[in-house]
Amino acid sequence: MFTDTHCHLSFPEFDRDRPEVIERLKTGGISLLIDPGTNTETSRKAIELASIHSFIYANVGLHPHEVTSTVADSVISEFALLAHSPKVVAIGEIGLDYHYPDYNRTAQIDAFRRMLSLAKTLDLPAVIHCRDAWDDMLRILDEEKHSSLRGVMHCFSGDTALAGECLRRGFKLSIPGTVTYKRSLLPEVINAVSLDDLLTETDAPYLAPIPHRGKRNEPAFVHYVTQAIASIKNIPLDETAASIENSARKLFQIT
Ligand SMILES: [Zn+2]
Ligand SMILES: [Zn+2]
Repeated sequence: MFTDTHCHLSFPEFDRDRPEVIERLKTGGISLLIDPGTNTETSRKAIELASIHSFIYANVGLHPHEVTSTVADSVISEFALLAHSPKVVAIGEIGLDYHYPDYNRTAQIDAFRRMLSLAKTLDLPAVIHCRDAWDDMLRILDEEKHSSLRGVMHCFSGDTALAGECLRRGFKLSIPGTVTYKRSLLPEVINAVSLDDLLTETDAPYLAPIPHRGKRNEPAFVHYVTQAIASIKNIPLDETAASIENSARKLFQIT
């Protein structure tokens, strides 16, 4: 019923009790979970986890935080190889993050473009992380425009105007637990766009929703996000959840 399109279930934060976390998400009604990679190692772990559980799928990706200098061709080739593994449904997470001034923007842009090319070549959606880098992000997406370029802005945190820019470029918006925070702009965004353009995620272990804010997030908490969307849009919870699951299955071509 519930869908977590972005959960780092293979991160070490879950090493201690992963079986229990998975049990809780089964009993909590989560029917689809996608684990995105952030480098070759975590991409491999996500693929491994997906091979064990039928409702878990993987992305292979290179997070901008991981890009401190020019990425070697051999690394990109490794991602291309990993992307052919069963149950890999997207390239991600990839993107730009300019939050801290010492981040290497040139290297990030170069890596992002090469990973985007991979997504286009393999005809896979891209799962994009963007923080404080929207001008460059939108410009690059325009420059890389292609019939197979599509995907999702994970952990979307922009305003309504930015939401429109992303949708126009073929990207859905994935709503995280921050939608439950008091100052969030997301309720306004959710109001302004169609339910078909929205996905749900936890980004666990980060960004736990209220009432778990400040603690480790886990995929079972995704229902708080679905609930928030349902009440903002005034659509019954089960209908909202079904629509979001349907959109996720369509985008990631999961039958
Ligand atoms: Zn991210
Ligand atoms: Zn993430």
